[in-house]
Amino acid sequence: SCKGKHFPYAIYQDSLNKYSVQRLSLMSELRGALAEGQLQLFYQPKLAISERKITTVECLIRWIHPVHGFIPPDEFIPLAEQTGAIRDVTHWGLRVAFKQYKQWQELGYDIGMAVNISAIDLVDMQLPTYVAELMSEFDVDNTMLTLEVTESAVMSDPESALKALNTLRRMGITLSIDDFGTGYSSMAQLKKMPVDELKIDKAFVLDLAKSEDDKIMVRTLMSLAQNLGLKTVAEGVEDGETLKFLQEVGCTKAQGFYMSRPLPADKFNDWLKDFNA
Ligand code: C2E
Ligand code: CA
Ligand code: CA
Ligand code: CA
Repeated sequence: SCKGKHFPYAIYQDSLNKYSVQRLSLMSELRGALAEGQLQLFYQPKLAISERKITTVECLIRWIHPVHGFIPPDEFIPLAEQTGAIRDVTHWGLRVAFKQYKQWQELGYDIGMAVNISAIDLVDMQLPTYVAELMSEFDVDNTMLTLEVTESAVMSDPESALKALNTLRRMGITLSIDDFGTGYSSMAQLKKMPVDELKIDKAFVLDLAKSEDDKIMVRTLMSLAQNLGLKTVAEGVEDGETLKFLQEVGCTKAQGFYMSRPLPADKFNDWLKDFNA
C-alpha cells in the first residue's frame, strides 16, 4: 500500500545504490516477476475540472517484491530500459490496462486508460503493432487509449519521436507530453509534435498555492499550451486551493492526492462509487 512504501524502500534504496550486482540480479528477476504476478498496475484518476468528471485514469506500475518489498517505478523502470526488458513490461502493462478498461466498461464506467511509455518504447516499431493487436483482441474504440511520453524522451530525438507520434496519432491514440516544463523543448519543436495534451510536471504544482514563482510558471505553461491548442493536465494537486487556481487559469484536468492516490483496481472501484455518489 502507499503507506507502507517508505519503510522497505529506505532499506532497499540504500543497498541498491551501493551494489550494482544487486541491480543486475534484480533485473534478472524482472521477467519472472511479471510471470509470477509481482507487478501490478495502480490507478489514479484525472479529473476533468469544469465537468467534475473522471474521464481518464493513469496506470502506474508497482513491483511488490517478495524480499525487498515495494520497489518504486523510478527505480526499476530505468534499469528495465537499460536491459531491454522494458518492452515486456510495457506490453504487460498495456494488456492489463485493456483488461481493466473492459471491466470498467462492464460496470458502466466509461473511463479512458493512460499508459506511460518510455523513450525506448516510443521508437520501438513493435509498439504500434502490439497496440493494434490489443485493440482488435479486446474490441475497443481506439480513443480509449492515451499514451504518456515524457518531454525529455521526445526531445532527446525529436525526429524519430515525430515519426513515432505520427504513427500512434493516426491510430486514434491520444498523446500526452509528461513532465512538461522539465525537458527544454522549444515552441518551434513542440508545434510540430502531433500531441493532444501537455501534462504540467508536479514540480510546478506541489507548492502552487503558496508559491508566486510556481504560479507564474504554471500560467506561462498554460498559455503556451493554449496557444498551441493543447489540453492541459496538472499533476501533483494536493489541496483544494491548488485545484481552484488551476480552474481559474483554465487547466483542463487535475490529478493528485487531493482527488486520490494511485489505488489498486478494487480500491479504485470503491473510490469511484463514492465519487459518483
Ligand atoms: P509520472 O508518470 O510523472 O507519474 C506521476 C508520479 O507522481 C507517480 O509516481 C504518482 O504516484 C505521483 N503522484 C501523483 N499524484 C501526486 C501528488 O499529488 N503528490 C505527489 N507528491 N506525487 C503524486 P509513481 O507512481 O511512483 O511513478 C513514478 C514514475 O515512474 C512515473 O512518473 C513514470 O515516469 C514512471 N512509471 C510509472 N509506471 C510506469 C509504467 O508503467 N511504464 C513506464 N515506462 N513508466 C512508468
Ligand atoms: Ca505519467
Ligand atoms: Ca511527472
Ligand atoms: Ca516522471
